[in-house]
Amino acid sequence: MRLARPLQLLIDQLQKLPSIGPKTAQRLALHILRLPREEARHLARAIVEVQEKVFPCSICGNLTDQDPCWICSNPGRAGDSLCIVEEASDIMSIERTGYNGKYYVLNRSFKLMDDIDPAEMDVESLSKILEQGQVQEVILALNPTIDGEVIARFLAAVINRHEVKVTRLAYGLPIGGDIEFADEITLRRALEGRKEF
Ligand SMILES: [Zn+2]
Repeated sequence: MRLARPLQLLIDQLQKLPSIGPKTAQRLALHILRLPREEARHLARAIVEVQEKVFPCSICGNLTDQDPCWICSNPGRAGDSLCIVEEASDIMSIERTGYNGKYYVLNRSFKLMDDIDPAEMDVESLSKILEQGQVQEVILALNPTIDGEVIARFLAAVINRHEVKVTRLAYGLPIGGDIEFADEITLRRALEGRKEF
């Protein structure tokens, strides 16, 4: 069956989004088609505006529509703690924990960090923050992957030049998980990071 061209174009575009297969794309396209015209316009405008108005904060790299971002410009945030994350989206996860310090996002180019050579990483803006002397502790909140490990080691060496304490997130068992099904590396890390009870 041949679909109306504009409908097919919308399906094609939706299908390019992550985790959207052909069937979901078709269902979404038909849903959009049935929306009141004003709502469809809002959706289209929101898509255009997110690209035009959101950019990385010049200090921390958080996604923002004002520079510096709301975290960097908030005097109520603890300036002595700096949490380093890989992606700006990681900030949203850490925020949910109630952390009240500041952040530094490594990957500001929106590209995946695959195959990155740490030696080519731009750490100048990080060094600049540390040189100001306010930060007392840097928390490495990188993904528990081989890449994350390599980057963590590299960063620790850079940060150690500044007489700042470096810590990293503890690795452990997921809440609600079962020891029997934990992989060997997770279990070993959990054992190494054990705390007095
Ligand atoms: Zn910021």
